[in-house]
Amino acid sequence: MPCPSIPDNMQTAGTIGSFFDNMKEILFISDLHLSQEYPDSLDRFERFAFTLSHEVDQIFMLGDVFDFWIGDDGAETLGHHKIEEQLHHISSSGIELFFLPGNRDFLVGQDFARRTGCRLLPDPSIIVIGTERIYLTHGDALCTDDIEHQQNRSVMLSAKWQSVFLEKSVEERLDTALRLRQESERSKQDKPMDIMDVNQSHLENVMRKNQVKTLIHGHTHKPAVHEFDLDGAKARRYVLGDWYTQNSILTVRNGEYMLE
Ligand code: MN
Repeated sequence: MPCPSIPDNMQTAGTIGSFFDNMKEILFISDLHLSQEYPDSLDRFERFAFTLSHEVDQIFMLGDVFDFWIGDDGAETLGHHKIEEQLHHISSSGIELFFLPGNRDFLVGQDFARRTGCRLLPDPSIIVIGTERIYLTHGDALCTDDIEHQQNRSVMLSAKWQSVFLEKSVEERLDTALRLRQESERSKQDKPMDIMDVNQSHLENVMRKNQVKTLIHGHTHKPAVHEFDLDGAKARRYVLGDWYTQNSILTVRNGEYMLE
């Protein structure tokens, strides 16, 4: 079964775990878009997997780790078994690996989780680091001005669409995925940039409803730390960057957040 996802924009998150922020590090990454078509990003991820510091305790992957995913039985066809081995190398070295799916890899499921040692998280999820509640999401659900994307999203996150899709042969699924990617690239070209970004008032409502002052997401490929006032308190939104030209990593250590 694919990872459970919340198909609408309610975005009420469950708390999935508490982490004690002692001497160790927690890393957040997203939007690696790993694909045999981009060998540089594969090399970058391989180096990342084999040169991780012993200080790292947990890694949260916040979606679009893969450029697309057509079901766990299609990993071989996409040439992704090496990436699965690298993920397994990380998890077997004692680092906890979490996978929160994005709009490109929402079909990652339990077989993938078993093969790699990743724990799948629903989008959104809340974690607690020290005493701070942190809202984690891939980010596309926050881009509410992009009505077309939100409509496609709710269709593809429905159990019905997913079961029909997963019943097709791997080859048919690959064709569909390539076609969908092409359509999405084409429709992006016609959209004004700002409608594909986070809607600030929706974001604030989500943060209020979930009682968080810190939120981490990817998806927009616009790495930044946004600080703003939320009902008289300081709120922060960390946006992870993609891995097309560099590794964008948010490191949390001793209550310090470093976005590189
Ligand atoms: Mn995305």
